[in-house]
Amino acid sequence: TEAADKTEGGVLVFGTNAELPPFEYVGDDGEPDGFDVALIKAVGEKLGMEVQVENMEFDSLVSSIGNRIDGAIAGMTVTDDRKEQVDFSDAYYEAVQFVIVPADSEIAAADDLKNKTIGCQLGTTGMFLAEDIEGATAQTYNRAVDAVNDLVNGRVDAVIIDKNPAEVFNTKFEGKVKIIDGADFGFEAEEYAIALPKGSELVEQVNQALADLKADGTFDALVAEYIGE
Ligand code: GLN
Repeated sequence: TEAADKTEGGVLVFGTNAELPPFEYVGDDGEPDGFDVALIKAVGEKLGMEVQVENMEFDSLVSSIGNRIDGAIAGMTVTDDRKEQVDFSDAYYEAVQFVIVPADSEIAAADDLKNKTIGCQLGTTGMFLAEDIEGATAQTYNRAVDAVNDLVNGRVDAVIIDKNPAEVFNTKFEGKVKIIDGADFGFEAEEYAIALPKGSELVEQVNQALADLKADGTFDALVAEYIGE
């Protein structure tokens, strides 16, 4: 089987997009770091396989699974569209989209986003939400931080991005921006999971590893270390 072959080879390559702190970012050594990177390496240890993490564009992760990479861990939200192309592991984190606006912005609720220019990362659930807002223009970026830079420079009116990175950017751009819970805009809860090839035996193996990491306290320790909850 494919999974058995992988075990023999001993190396699994996972794609990420190191632009979503604290889940993934480029570490001081230039390599991807963050909660997801630590989690997938811990999963690899449980499976007795070495895990390599490759930094790629978020928008190309799903289509690369099963060819260029064995899976993806990228704060990736489980969606029906993605499920047509990949299988997801059990969910490992609950998320929601947040809205970042300039500190003095009057945007506070769903109607306020109509006809606005909204910055978002290409191919993300934030982009899908922005595209659904009446009259709004979704302005896409490969790197979330560039969307926030353009917000600070007045080129976009709001940025839609996952909650935890929104909090990180709120600190990074302190005083210049503020963040609003997406629930105020009617955005629904999302779940992060690890994307794997359709029909792969890795799904069951990764789920078992996740369950083991939760049972032995490793998962909570990583949450405390990287996310601080
Ligand atoms: N959770 C969002 C999504 O899956 C954003 C992920 C990301 O930017 N890495 O689309």
